[in-house]
Amino acid sequence: MNQCKECGSYAINVGKGGRDESDSDLCDVCYWRKRWIERGVEIERLRADLDALKETLAGVKSMHADALEELYELRSRMGR
Ligand SMILES: [Zn+2]
Repeated sequence: MNQCKECGSYAINVGKGGRDESDSDLCDVCYWRKRWIERGVEIERLRADLDALKETLAGVKSMHADALEELYELRSRMGR
């Protein structure tokens, strides 16, 4: 019987309870803990990407507002 390489448990049920065939040397608890940690890292990365996108969007909005202001100013100078 296989033993978990992390904790020594024998509760290794590869392919059952939602597990795929990977990490067959991990017990069910360590298998899911590993995925949970990976998800956390992924979520942090996505949050950082989202923050960067928000910053970019704010910059674009500001440029757009500036361009509109310039346009209105030009129009008013042209008497329209
Ligand atoms: Zn384990």
